[in-house]
Amino acid sequence: MSRCMKCGRELSPDEVGLHKKLINRGASEYMCMTCLAEFFGCSEELLKQKIAQFREMGCALFNSSGLSENTKSEVSRKNT
Ligand SMILES: [Zn+2]
Repeated sequence: MSRCMKCGRELSPDEVGLHKKLINRGASEYMCMTCLAEFFGCSEELLKQKIAQFREMGCALFNSSGLSENTKSEVSRKNT
């Protein structure tokens, strides 16, 4: 499992995907959501929304990581 290059926290596949998408697709070192938010000067909440957006768009960087429980329930809500 990769670790954040700034704070050393363990990264989720979503955070790795987000770093690739927003900073550099070929990156080999990544930042966690907290450090990315600091880097961009935005809230972590916004980054979470971005991840959801990219996933909805079918971005390959997020498809492989599987859906979180939250996303799953949101999808089933949409379908009903
Ligand atoms: Zn970090």
